[in-house]
Amino acid sequence: MKWSDEAEAAVKKVPLFVRKRVRTRVEKEAAEQGKHLITIAEVKATQTRFLNKQGHDIKGYQVERCFGQSGCPNRAVISDQLATKIDTLFKEADILGFLRQTVTGNLKFHHEFRVSLADCPNACSQPQIRDIGIIGAAVPHVSGEACSDCEACIDECREDAVVLMKNGAGPRIDYRRCLSCGRCMAVCPTGTLTTGQTGYRVQLGGKLGRHPRLARELPGVFSADQVVNIVRACIALYKKKSTAGARFSEILTGADVDRIAGQAGVQPISQ
Ligand code: SF4
Ligand code: SF4
Ligand code: SF4
Repeated sequence: MKWSDEAEAAVKKVPLFVRKRVRTRVEKEAAEQGKHLITIAEVKATQTRFLNKQGHDIKGYQVERCFGQSGCPNRAVISDQLATKIDTLFKEADILGFLRQTVTGNLKFHHEFRVSLADCPNACSQPQIRDIGIIGAAVPHVSGEACSDCEACIDECREDAVVLMKNGAGPRIDYRRCLSCGRCMAVCPTGTLTTGQTGYRVQLGGKLGRHPRLARELPGVFSADQVVNIVRACIALYKKKSTAGARFSEILTGADVDRIAGQAGVQPISQ
């Protein structure tokens, strides 16, 4: 739907964590009224209704995703099933019931536990500033196939993580620089670079607000089942330690992160 410049400017002032929902709702309500252009009047009317009714829209958690499933060519993994499993974990944990018991007064969006999945390291869904951030990873592997020295992998890697050895000895990957985006394998015409393992990087404890903080990354790449175990451990920790609506990112300590990373069953498939 078309937006006037003034309406676009107004919606950009809405706090980031509710902006997408406000925007969707503005368009939905305008469409219901047969309108095809969003002006400042539509934004204001919807914004007022939306904020007044906040408590009814809270579900206790949000599992956000990037736009990978709409066919983004950068996807390193397909995380659809993992997203569904994580959603089920949160439903079963009754986070909304927990918040209703522990928060005095009306629930607000900022009380919700926020998880973000991105299907590649471009991280369009901003996992670095969520309670749990999950980033798809495809780890490159050097096979025995002969390299043609075409340098396509060098051109494709934005991290300078591929080095071509002299005398046709093929590529080496600097795994300290590599973000496991999967691009070098995608462009290699000879199969010299292939996908070693696919999985997820996991980051915990990111947030915005008055004291913003980037999430801390657990070392390694984890399988989908391991990610589910990590999320389960995070939910248990949150329900044990959070009082009065404190966010997961507020109660999480460095020791907690180390403990979760070291728990049996969450040893990474690659480091
Ligand atoms: S995070 Fe990666 S896969 Fe997802 S929408 Fe962005 S570029 Fe595409
Ligand atoms: S996976 Fe991505 S970051 Fe890693 S070496 Fe290949 S292109 Fe570079
Ligand atoms: S590893 Fe593949 S992409 Fe890189 S130079 Fe060799 S053939 Fe080309």
